[in-house]
Amino acid sequence: MQGASESPDPWLLTLQHSPIGMAMVGLDGRLLMVNPAMSEMLGYDVEQLTQRGFQELTHPDDLDADLALFEQTLAGDIDSYRLRKRYLHADGHVVWGDLSVALVRGPEGDPLHFISQVLDITAAERERQSLEAIFETVTVGLLLIGPDGRYERMNCRHQETMQLPFPDGHEGEAGQLGHVFHLDGHRRMEREDMPSYRATAGEEFDDYTYWVGDDPATRRAFSTSARQVRGPSGEPLGAALAYQDITDLMRAMKVKDEFVSSVSHELRTPLTSVLGYLELLHDNGTLADDARAQVQVVRRNALRLQALVSDLLQVGQVQEGRLRLQYAEADLTAVVQDAAEASRSLASRHGVEIGVEAPDRVVARVDEQRVRQVLDNLLSNAVKYTGTEGEVSVVLREEPDSVVIEVSDTGIGIPADEVDQVFGRFFRGSGALEQHIPGTGLGLDIVSSIVAAHGGELSLESEVGRGSTFRVCLPRGPA
Ligand code: ADP
Repeated sequence: MQGASESPDPWLLTLQHSPIGMAMVGLDGRLLMVNPAMSEMLGYDVEQLTQRGFQELTHPDDLDADLALFEQTLAGDIDSYRLRKRYLHADGHVVWGDLSVALVRGPEGDPLHFISQVLDITAAERERQSLEAIFETVTVGLLLIGPDGRYERMNCRHQETMQLPFPDGHEGEAGQLGHVFHLDGHRRMEREDMPSYRATAGEEFDDYTYWVGDDPATRRAFSTSARQVRGPSGEPLGAALAYQDITDLMRAMKVKDEFVSSVSHELRTPLTSVLGYLELLHDNGTLADDARAQVQVVRRNALRLQALVSDLLQVGQVQEGRLRLQYAEADLTAVVQDAAEASRSLASRHGVEIGVEAPDRVVARVDEQRVRQVLDNLLSNAVKYTGTEGEVSVVLREEPDSVVIEVSDTGIGIPADEVDQVFGRFFRGSGALEQHIPGTGLGLDIVSSIVAAHGGELSLESEVGRGSTFRVCLPRGPA
């Protein structure tokens, strides 16, 4: 420390070169000695600084807290104290310091002076304030949970949204039950399903969606992600959760679904009438040959329209939970053979062969019509996406508790990043779009809902340019 007489004492050398600001402070608060780090931190040279009291170097808003602790130490209530506080730099800007103060007493216990150490934490504080600003500015609710499941921090956004699920307050602990519902809007969430509980149990997830709020008219939908937070050695520190309000998106999707459903209902009746009259026209013996050919074209297109409307209607039924299965014993070998036969005329026009491999008879309790629909969709896709000169094969085999149907083709295949998406409603793959292969993106959605309604599983293996295999595994059915 400058101001002390030259000494080889290693402690003085340490003070001289320490990166931490240090000062000897008199009982009135005046700085008696300071080290270079302290003078650099506050922007005064050592001589200037030693003429000042800490009171005038402290930011006015932090002075009372410091003075109170200073007095308590002098009074002997405490020996030392620690405080994060703001200093005023010589040029007027604020310097954040982490201050430690200890009182030095003489042999009789009488107070002599204070030793203060100040670590400059301005950079860390700036970082903290930036993060704080981001934490509070984002339109996503953010929550930090400790390893014991206690809520440690949340931003205002999250605090506001807690009102809806927990109108009587929240205890600040993961897994508290409230007005939180699964996506169907009816089933209340159990403790194990609550996002906070799952995150505390160590799970990580994305896009976990559900409704909150008791009143269906005002409830909101959330999509939640969770990540585990770990310390420098990988030790668990808890979990971070982000809650995004997706109510508008959910309501827009509902409107879209209702629109599709009502349009398809409205189209069905006139279309049935059009097809009826076309039938009559076609059978009318007085029509000239070229007119009959034209009626045939109209009829073919009206039938395509009818197939589309019926796909849309079925999608609507699944959505409303109205897909009811009519279980009965069926010979799946016959179902597979019939479906293959029905697809052959279209396939042969494209030079595609359809082969079937199946035992003589495979009996299962299923909804036969729906299973036929699954096969028709998979086969028509297999033919459609094989183009020309390819092979399609259907393999039916029995397993102890289930039956497996595989539909394979040697067609265009599906890129790996689309494999998970092809079962989505209205999804059309890049191959289909690039090659202008017509379709609606509804077929596989219908297939997957029928397989799911049977309690079965649907999987897909595919390689671009080589072909695809769709595998349907159905339980043998309820007794
Ligand atoms: P659509 O065939 O009307 O487009 P689907 O729901 O039946 O609708 O299929 C969704 C997408 O999956 C298709 O657009 C296509 O990209 C891809 N796909 C389905 N089946 C096959 C197949 N056998 N081979 C290659 N791609 C397929």
